[in-house]
Amino acid sequence: MDKEITIIGSGMGGLASGIYARLNGYRATIFEQHALPGGQCASWKRKGYTLDGCIHHLMGCEPGSRLYTLWEELGVMPRELAATKECVSVASPEGRMFLDYYDTEALEQHLKDLSPRDASTIEQYARAIPRFARYDLMGEAMMGTRTGLLKMLPGLLGLAKWFRPNMEQFAGRFRDPFLRRAFPLLEYSIKDMPFFMHLAKHAYGYRGGIEWPVGASIGLARSMEKRFLELGGEVHYRSGVERVLTEGGKATGVILEDGSEHRSDIVISNADGRKTIIGMLGGRFINESIRKFCRPPLDDETPWAVHVFLGVARDLSDEPSALVQLLEEPVTIAGHMTDSLEMQMYGFDPTIAPQGKGVIKVELVSSYSKWKELYSDKKRYDWEKERVAEQVIDVLESTHFPGIRGQIEVVDVPTMMTWERFMGGSYGFMTGPAKKFSPMDMFFGKGYSTLPGLSNFYLVGTWATATGALFANARSGRRAIQAACESEGKSFVSR
Ligand SMILES: Cc1cc2nc3c(=O)[nH]c(=O)nc-3n(C[C@H](O)[C@H](O)[C@H](O)COP(=O)(O)OP(=O)(O)OC[C@H]3O[C@@H](n4cnc5c(N)ncnc54)[C@H](O)[C@@H]3O)c2cc1C
Repeated sequence: MDKEITIIGSGMGGLASGIYARLNGYRATIFEQHALPGGQCASWKRKGYTLDGCIHHLMGCEPGSRLYTLWEELGVMPRELAATKECVSVASPEGRMFLDYYDTEALEQHLKDLSPRDASTIEQYARAIPRFARYDLMGEAMMGTRTGLLKMLPGLLGLAKWFRPNMEQFAGRFRDPFLRRAFPLLEYSIKDMPFFMHLAKHAYGYRGGIEWPVGASIGLARSMEKRFLELGGEVHYRSGVERVLTEGGKATGVILEDGSEHRSDIVISNADGRKTIIGMLGGRFINESIRKFCRPPLDDETPWAVHVFLGVARDLSDEPSALVQLLEEPVTIAGHMTDSLEMQMYGFDPTIAPQGKGVIKVELVSSYSKWKELYSDKKRYDWEKERVAEQVIDVLESTHFPGIRGQIEVVDVPTMMTWERFMGGSYGFMTGPAKKFSPMDMFFGKGYSTLPGLSNFYLVGTWATATGALFANARSGRRAIQAACESEGKSFVSR
């Protein structure tokens, strides 16, 4: 009889595990504690507006590329995609606008118009992007071969000078104060992001590898769910797993929160790593380094900790897809002092809001512990969310969106506690191990994790990859099933 795999959670890693499990002749059952698939890949509706809590940039949209192949295998591609002209944009308090166009000729011209005296730095920036675009480094590292990577090496060595500076250091080369202030914010306002990561990402956009899935994040997750079900997989929603069963150092099934037991040959967890290792497995399969990874996340403060969604009776189709609004004076919102506000608009996707209307999503840095503490008192929690929304609306009104207050039809403010409630995480969406992000882990990590002393068990998703990216966490499910096949001496199939 075919072996049975139990999968805990239907995030990217869980759904992908299920799909490849079925493709490789395993029976597969997913138990998901929420009522929907997707985990962090989430969007929801309010009064005709679609509010997307996830995708800014979907990598792997270029047909024929390695990552596109991954999405094809998972039933995500082909699908309707919408392209945006720019990766992100930054507006100065006086209304100057830096649009980081994917088209590098348009980018070079636009930046030279903004600051002719920075022509040389602008040329260096805009002309490095097509050079990076010659290499599908991410795709090759994650889905390709060592030989493919080795072939890229000489070309990549020619780009070595871009591997040294970070975003802020490169920005220091601009003479124009606005460009100097705006540039470090282009990668989700992470000023110390290695500059080459930005160039490489921009290069994917330049090649058409980054787009937006029409139908928003839940549409992407639903496509994977559909593929899994069509392949004969089973998924049970509102079925939280409480314990992983083990016998003689082997995982043998799970016990659900309702007390029912489900036996299987292999168990894969896509749930929060801490909850899996310490909770579901009782901390019995652990060593010193895993214990350290189970500590609280390194940073209590995180980007995107609070979102303010506004559904507005205002046409946003001419607005940039993403905007960082620089402020004249710093403000403290959600306990964090900032001199800029980051937001996404969706004017490029007419399905996101009723005709002539739009959605603005403002993303705020805040601390997990602040919201955890507030959450114990529902009244204070709701009051603080309202206060945060009011502050955000005031800033929008006085900067890029005069008149917006009177156009608001929907306000929704999910916080880290919302993510925790819907995803069963221990620190909001910070379900990864307590370690610093490393591009090496992302590119060259094995993709799944195992635990000492426990066989027939794999961790997939953010805990295993330590990476916040859809494709990387989906690919972790592929890698776990590859490992399961290898351990049985079976060859792995992907279609
Ligand atoms: C605000 C935000 C923006 C993002 N933007 C992007 C982007 O633009 N591009 C990009 O590529 N990535 C983006 N990401 C990252 C991406 O969404 C995640 O990396 C990815 O979705 C994580 O997948 P995962 O496999 O770790 O599963 P998760 O999404 O963590 O899902 C885990 C699943 O397990 C379930 N579960 C947990 N406990 C249990 C239990 N006990 N029993 C049963 N089920 C359980 C949960 O309900 C959930 O469904 C973003 C993330 C966030 C939070």
